Amino acid sequence: MKKIVLASSNAGKVREINNLLSQHGIEVVPQTTFDIPDAIEDGLSFVENAIIKARHAAKLSGCPAIADDSGIEVDALNHRPGIYSARYSGEGANDIKNNEKMLGELADVPEEKRSARYQCVMVFMRDGDDPTPIITQGTLEGRILEAPRGEGGFGYDPLFYLPEKQCAAAEISLEEKNKISHRAIALNALVTKLKDAGIIH
Ligand code: IMP
Repeated sequence: MKKIVLASSNAGKVREINNLLSQHGIEVVPQTTFDIPDAIEDGLSFVENAIIKARHAAKLSGCPAIADDSGIEVDALNHRPGIYSARYSGEGANDIKNNEKMLGELADVPEEKRSARYQCVMVFMRDGDDPTPIITQGTLEGRILEAPRGEGGFGYDPLFYLPEKQCAAAEISLEEKNKISHRAIALNALVTKLKDAGIIH
């Protein structure tokens, strides 16, 4: 079985990506298995940060690498917080503080102007010097609620209304979310491109 290192230590992501790639004879191992520390994400876009993370993991492990970078763009905030989604509320940021800050910034914004989307970029690099990384993107459209709803999910899910489900992302099961999420879309597209490139079968 071929090994691909995942530039993340998030157990949920490792499981989700492994589920899909194990069907293609690929074993996905988190970078922590190789004692690889997190890369410094100093890019200015999801694509740049995903490439930085994949290159770092590939260089230090000697294996091909996959990295993802994701976040939320809010139209009324000029695409913010974007790549800064995890650290939106500053020093000591966490999901609750980030959600509170977003509600505060959008306090005077009416429902029809609260459009937003989750974005995810996935990158595959054959090695740390790969000049042609394989890049895919997934988007999930929604709207920012005026108060949190639901207990599931993580991050901005209690504030993220999914029009086609008519509920917040924190009100659907993980299984349901994994079918429609920006990450799932990007990951499925990556599998297709890896097959087309003959990297997996
Ligand atoms: P990362 O890609 O794991 O670094 O995620 C960046 C940040 O974007 C997270 O910490 C969340 O704040 C936000 N985010 C990304 N994907 C989701 C999602 O599916 N639900 C809620 N928040 C998300």
